[in-house]
Amino acid sequence: MPVYVVGHKIPDSDSICGAIAVAHLKNQIGEAAVATRLGDISPETAFILERFGVEAPELKLSYAGEEVYIVDHSELTQAPDDIEQATIVGIVDHHKLGDLTTATPLEAWIRPVGCSNTIIKMMYDFYNVEIPPAIAGIMLCAILSDTVIFKSPTCTTADRRCVEALAKIANVDDVKALGMEMFHVKSAVANTSARELVMRDFKDFNMSGNKIGVGQLEVVDIAVFDQIKADLEADLAALKTEGDRHTVMLLLTDIMQEASELLVLSDDDELVERAFGVTPTEGRAWLDGVLSRKKQIIPHLEKALS
Ligand code: MG
Ligand code: MG
Ligand code: MG
Repeated sequence: MPVYVVGHKIPDSDSICGAIAVAHLKNQIGEAAVATRLGDISPETAFILERFGVEAPELKLSYAGEEVYIVDHSELTQAPDDIEQATIVGIVDHHKLGDLTTATPLEAWIRPVGCSNTIIKMMYDFYNVEIPPAIAGIMLCAILSDTVIFKSPTCTTADRRCVEALAKIANVDDVKALGMEMFHVKSAVANTSARELVMRDFKDFNMSGNKIGVGQLEVVDIAVFDQIKADLEADLAALKTEGDRHTVMLLLTDIMQEASELLVLSDDDELVERAFGVTPTEGRAWLDGVLSRKKQIIPHLEKALS
């Protein structure tokens, strides 16, 4: 039976490209592995896979009785619903350590870098396995996505060096141009429902027993949201009720201005003030310099709610 390699719910490019890259590596070292996904492919990821001619992993939601290798998270809320009936054999991740646990020993590749694919490159180096150009290409794009083309405070020297090395393998001359092309694809909001936009990169967290949902949309120009902000807020309100969430947030991130507008609805009126030192006006707050949910949002919320 193969090991299924799977990223988080509402998969982003790191989860999809990472699952493909880990599955390929495992197969090269004699461990049968299949890349899978827990949800739809985003427009950004579709662009990446098409650019390098790589097929999307198969959709697979149930893992009971299977062996699973987890990519790009270690959170119960982001894992397959029946993960507790599966055997987790490994984790590769770059987030805070979550609440996934195991009954048997596991392989863990966890590093404080900008992207899981940077760690996956370290895995290839460790096993001395060559990365095929197409896989190098999608890994590189995942790193450009997660690090917001190196602008995110989560970006490390390891990520930059990794992109350099992968670009040589994938024959990409101008990585920043490729990154901008990718973010332009990501910035398209026309003909997309508010629900689809809110859920495009949405994560639930358990913070001291409270269910907190935080979505993020990273675009080249935040003005694309001017006409639809009220619709997004209405949908956030619905999402809060439907999911019985304590708080829902949506970060509208302008990658050129390197700042985010936070849309928020919370049972705790002072949460944003305590977490970020700003008072929202009608559920909106401007967060200068904020690009990273993982590093600049989640830790502050955890602290404010603890
Ligand atoms: Mg991710
Ligand atoms: Mg990631
Ligand atoms: Mg991201």
